[in-house]
Amino acid sequence: MLAWEVRRPGPIETEPLEAVTREIPEPGPGEILIRVRACGVCRTDLHVTEGDLPPRRPHVTPGHEIVGEVVRQGHRFAAGDRVGVAWLRSTCGLCAYCRRGAENLCPSSTYTGWDADGGYAEYAVAPEAYLYPLPGDRSGAEVAPLLCAGIIGYRALRRAALPPGGRLGIWGFGGSAHLAAQIALAEGAAVHVFTRAKAARELALDLGAASAQDSFDPSPEPLDSAIVFAPAGELVPAALRRLDRGGTLAVAGIHLTDVPALNYQDDLFQERRLLSVTSNTRADGEEFLRLADRLRLKVTVTPYALEEADRALADLAGDRVNGAAVLVPGAGG
Ligand SMILES: [Zn+2]
Ligand SMILES: [Zn+2]
Repeated sequence: MLAWEVRRPGPIETEPLEAVTREIPEPGPGEILIRVRACGVCRTDLHVTEGDLPPRRPHVTPGHEIVGEVVRQGHRFAAGDRVGVAWLRSTCGLCAYCRRGAENLCPSSTYTGWDADGGYAEYAVAPEAYLYPLPGDRSGAEVAPLLCAGIIGYRALRRAALPPGGRLGIWGFGGSAHLAAQIALAEGAAVHVFTRAKAARELALDLGAASAQDSFDPSPEPLDSAIVFAPAGELVPAALRRLDRGGTLAVAGIHLTDVPALNYQDDLFQERRLLSVTSNTRADGEEFLRLADRLRLKVTVTPYALEEADRALADLAGDRVNGAAVLVPGAGG
């Protein structure tokens, strides 16, 4: 089968991703073989490929937004079932975090496309207990971005503690943000988007955002909640200063450049809160996928053939993707 692997992590200009031919993988205990129908391209794949995240498996195949078809009967799923594979691949189930419903904090957790091969390939294996059933009539390409971008955006939104009818600021408006924004809008929030990308500002307004401006522009009104999706630490003080008293800022990314020195009075006092978002639990995923289906979230997708994974990732690095990039095996040659 065709698969992509991270030959040597480094800047995307050094072409760290390489297309190789591999045997179709054999499922291990508790795992199941999946034929990949679509795999979303997430910023985390870029962090794995460029080495911002330390390598955990040499020559790993990235990709953790997999929509696929079960090839052979398992315990939970039958051949032909449509399933989703997401970032959280496994947890220990025994530690204090797992036991209190915070499996996203499990120190022994593993991740798809980082600890184990992911979906930039024609086939993938994954533990059955961590798969999401994906009924419904939407195309694989439309569903794939929901599996990480969507789930993480949802968790970030909940962590940002947006009050009903509240005012939400969003910094960075790619795959994750455009989904979280739709949920906030459906719940009656006023959404203000801050991004340097002009196409993203237009998309934000099309979806119903109250305003869209450049990253460091003033906010039309003080914010109850804010989410920083862009991996840029300098946005943190900017977002904090646009919060109202008692407001909450959630940083959604797994990687962020250094946050500049904060000024306690200007940035944090008046009980503003700054917190991070770490992965997700399976409960977050199940909740979000139900909501996405019920609200018929609009997923803006830019499809690429599997053969074009390197170009898709370079486009993401260069802010040239509107909405979410998705690899579709069989769409190329
Ligand atoms: Zn655990
Ligand atoms: Zn992701």
